[in-house]
Amino acid sequence: MSDGADCKCAAWNSSECGCDADWTPQETIDLRVENTSLLALLKEMSAEIEELTKALALEIRERVAAEQKIVEKDMEISKLKEGILLLREQLTNPRR
Ligand SMILES: [Zn+2]
Repeated sequence: MSDGADCKCAAWNSSECGCDADWTPQETIDLRVENTSLLALLKEMSAEIEELTKALALEIRERVAAEQKIVEKDMEISKLKEGILLLREQLTNPRR
């Protein structure tokens, strides 16, 4: 009950009331309920954001590592190409 609806002493407000009825405004009760559910939602969303942030950080780390491997392979290929060019040059222009 709220707003003194369960008052049995016919009081107009909480200061007149002698029967210990609940004079909490219904709006306050509704807002407390809403506040509780919003806090629960906020907690849930915070946990979700934290989880997504961790997953994103992991993804970024993996991509950076993969990119680093590509750069390394690219350098290896460049060195091999240089070697092939050098060999081709030596084969076409043998020095005696
Ligand atoms: Zn009362």
